[in-house]
Amino acid sequence: MPHVVTSSCVNHKFQDCVAVCPVDAFREAHTYLVIDPEECIDCGACATECPVEAIYLDDNVPLNEIEWIDRNANESIDSDVANGGSPILGKLR
Ligand code: SF4
Repeated sequence: MPHVVTSSCVNHKFQDCVAVCPVDAFREAHTYLVIDPEECIDCGACATECPVEAIYLDDNVPLNEIEWIDRNANESIDSDVANGGSPILGKLR
């Protein structure tokens, strides 16, 4: 049961969450961040740090944001700006 970034992150990409994640689970898409469900250990640290309250445990994602569960899973593979590099996170995948 990973944590999930939802639509409140769009066009923000705040990095408070990235700074506290112990396992580097965040990935960068073009206009938001996502959490790789294969990496997340569900510590919950990121959720309390997010200034726009965009992060939820997957069981607690609001119904109108439910698509973001799949979006985090899928785009954690295809993200880091289409695998061409991550200006914010500073790494290639
Ligand atoms: Fe990282 Fe913990 Fe947030 Fe998962 S819940 S993304 S491990 S900070």
